[in-house]
Amino acid sequence: MYTPEKMILTAGPSITQLEIDYVNDAVTNWRNSNRNWYIKKFEEKFAEYIWCAYTMSTSSCTGALHVALTALWVKAGDEVLVPDITRWATASAVRYVWATPIFVDVDPKTRCISADEIEKHITSRTRAVMPVYNYGNAPEMDKIMEVARKHNLFVVEDAAPGIGTTYKWKKAGSFGDFGCFSFQWAKIMTTWEWGMLVTNNKELFERAQFLWDHWRNPDGSFRILEVGYKYKMPNIAAALGLAQLERIDEIVGRKRAILEVYKTWLTGIDWVTLNYQDEDCKVNARMSSIVIDPKIIKISRDDLRKELKERNIDTRPFFPQLSKSDAYFTKEHDGQKEYNPNAKLIAENWINLPSGHNLTQEELLYIVDVLRSLLK
Ligand SMILES: *Cc1c(COP(=O)(O)O)cnc(C)c1O
Repeated sequence: MYTPEKMILTAGPSITQLEIDYVNDAVTNWRNSNRNWYIKKFEEKFAEYIWCAYTMSTSSCTGALHVALTALWVKAGDEVLVPDITRWATASAVRYVWATPIFVDVDPKTRCISADEIEKHITSRTRAVMPVYNYGNAPEMDKIMEVARKHNLFVVEDAAPGIGTTYKWKKAGSFGDFGCFSFQWAKIMTTWEWGMLVTNNKELFERAQFLWDHWRNPDGSFRILEVGYKYKMPNIAAALGLAQLERIDEIVGRKRAILEVYKTWLTGIDWVTLNYQDEDCKVNARMSSIVIDPKIIKISRDDLRKELKERNIDTRPFFPQLSKSDAYFTKEHDGQKEYNPNAKLIAENWINLPSGHNLTQEELLYIVDVLRSLLK
């Protein structure tokens, strides 16, 4: 049997000569008054791709989330609903504006925030909800938008890992008041770091633009009107981003093909579920990930990961539940530590399988062979 000589990694981007050429061009040819050419182009193309009106490149998705909440006037005393399992950035952005993150349970099917659970947590202080596309999976955005409209809540989508995911023929990040994306190294398309903010609302977009660059007076007087941030993307990164975006169908296609291989070979092992999709929801498969059922399976998640590592297969666990982290609690909000049983079960039994662009067919078949033998 084929055995790999070095560790098969979980992630890894797809970089071609096109990316290298664009970056070279950005450094060599676009200076002084033209130094932002690739930024404009990248933002334009990103708007076309996401199907939304306004785009603003940012320093990161975390920065975009911060700008979004500030632009929506979310402030101290407000509550913002976030899924109990997500990367920390979602909840930390709520803290940046001195508001309180309320941790909501997830839907076991989508592994994303549940619309029904959202409704249970709404109080007179709730201002916004932040659905997250965990590892490219999709929350039921139609139901979430309905609940949000009914209760007058803003919606900020954390679509950091969701580029290319669609739900009912709309793109991830295009449903709410703002959508936020990440191009960090391990995401589906990358500029090494940096991110993007999108919206269909002109007024909100203009507010966001002020916040993004120190709220400068547009009259060129080098005065500022209010206190803002500095969350811009450089032209070099945008050059990389434009090349990645021109190749996005190929990039997402490869990810989906990897998921299909796992699906084909792991079906029939009924205590393993892979990323959920149906006719309404097509995931980008940024990570092919299994959730194992601890009631049936003989091996624990962490032991399984260890066994895989010994066979040169690297994996990643999911982030621990945020409601268990002391970082988000203050004296006034100690009482909010939630149990959230679905989030707990999923966080503790989730494994991201190798899903990098450069995985070979040989490596993939090796991984499914090892998995099938360990999961017997
Ligand atoms: C990666 C990620 C972020 C953060 O993105 P950065 O660009 O690193 O700030 C936020 N939320 C989720 C769900 C992510 O996966």
